[in-house]
Amino acid sequence: MSEASATIIGAGIVGMSTAAFLQRSGYKVTVIDRLPPGEGCSFGNAGGIAFAEIAPTIHPKVLLKIPGWLMDPLGPLTIRWSYLPKALPWFLAAGRNAMPDRVRAITAARADLALRCVADVETLLKEKGAADLIRYQDTLRVYDTEQQFQAEAAERETKKSFGFEMKTISGDEARELEPALGPGVHRAAFHGGWYFVTNPERVVKTIAADVARNGGRIIADDVVAIDRDGGKATALQLKAGGRHVLDQLVICAGAYSHLLGRQLGERFLLEAERGYHMVLPNSGVTLSRSITYARTPGAATPMEMGLRLAGTDEFAGLDAEPNYARADALWKIFKMVLPGLREPDAATTRWMGRRPGTPDSLPVIGPSKTTSNVWYGFGHGHMGLTWGPTTGRLIAEIMTGSRSNIDLSPFRADRF
Ligand SMILES: Cc1cc2nc3c(=O)[nH]c(=O)nc-3n(C[C@H](O)[C@H](O)[C@H](O)COP(=O)(O)OP(=O)(O)OC[C@H]3O[C@@H](n4cnc5c(N)ncnc54)[C@H](O)[C@@H]3O)c2cc1C
Repeated sequence: MSEASATIIGAGIVGMSTAAFLQRSGYKVTVIDRLPPGEGCSFGNAGGIAFAEIAPTIHPKVLLKIPGWLMDPLGPLTIRWSYLPKALPWFLAAGRNAMPDRVRAITAARADLALRCVADVETLLKEKGAADLIRYQDTLRVYDTEQQFQAEAAERETKKSFGFEMKTISGDEARELEPALGPGVHRAAFHGGWYFVTNPERVVKTIAADVARNGGRIIADDVVAIDRDGGKATALQLKAGGRHVLDQLVICAGAYSHLLGRQLGERFLLEAERGYHMVLPNSGVTLSRSITYARTPGAATPMEMGLRLAGTDEFAGLDAEPNYARADALWKIFKMVLPGLREPDAATTRWMGRRPGTPDSLPVIGPSKTTSNVWYGFGHGHMGLTWGPTTGRLIAEIMTGSRSNIDLSPFRADRF
């Protein structure tokens, strides 16, 4: 029997992890991306292997904060108003998913994904001699008021109920651990488990190099159309003019995946949740771990290229120009807890990336309902670095007919 072959669209953390796990299962793999590996959204994240983040991105407590955030143009969440009508179905679905029974079900599904994610990252990196990329240093969440700290009590209880340890410490203990923290830090918490990587782009490029070394092909091109015949995908039309004939197809195209799914007659609710980062090679701040700050969703992470401040969520569609003032706003906020943070200088870089966000804070992992040889792995929102390797393993298990260790029904493609 000839070797089974699979084509993966997307060379981000999800696509490259899928290629790596499929290769381990005996598939001959081809990955197609218009960008080099790890240069889409996976390039610039905060580096958190945030396995304890089991609460959905949008939950009732967050809904209460949204009006205040929206009033502030540089606050952590913004919608370009001209874009709102287009995003409305997504927001309505997000509202429905913020109901208590949905939040419980989503939390349980996210906790299931968390089970193996550190082991899956290690499987892809450790054997490649890239273990230096992972830092087993638990992220510290800092609070500047007691009220802020108490506002997250319910979330800490939920994490505890799923077995994540929630140790809290005083402001002074936090400063002893991380002397860069300022006097305003009132309390801190290890919020259940987050490791970090020191270069998310290098994570993907390391996996890609290994896939290529093991015989995988990586093609630099844009997939413009999927040809179908009799309920099967037969070939991809590439922008450079070629036609790539298919055996099996996995769509891991990040925030663009719904556009490809639409060609197969499938409807997904997917929005680009645009996040920003600023990297300060000369930050003046030394941290031994990643810091999150209760005032804003985001993190300050010490990386090999400098201190990376990453976060914020902007709904403006796939194509709107970046607004780098949002990256500068992260600097202003983190300056409140890291007073030694130096002004951005000529070496400072700013970046915008499109998180592939679903309205239920869960990814799509599983088979297409319309096309028998197509599978999906996308929609990882704020958690793609964390769940990408696990998604790759799960897709390989589904495609080879192995039994997965978790219930996959919350991730099915026809739930929208
Ligand atoms: C500011 C910020 C901070 C973040 N922090 C964290 C964090 O700390 N921890 C965490 O787990 N996650 C974090 N994330 C989220 C994480 O980065 C994403 O969920 C993840 O990168 C998504 O990976 P992906 O492989 O699905 O998408 P991508 O990396 O975007 O890869 C998809 C690829 O598909 C390609 N593609 C799309 N369509 C086509 C086509 N038609 N033809 C050819 N190629 C195509 C694109 O070029 C792209 O390279 C953060 C994100 C941001 C923006």
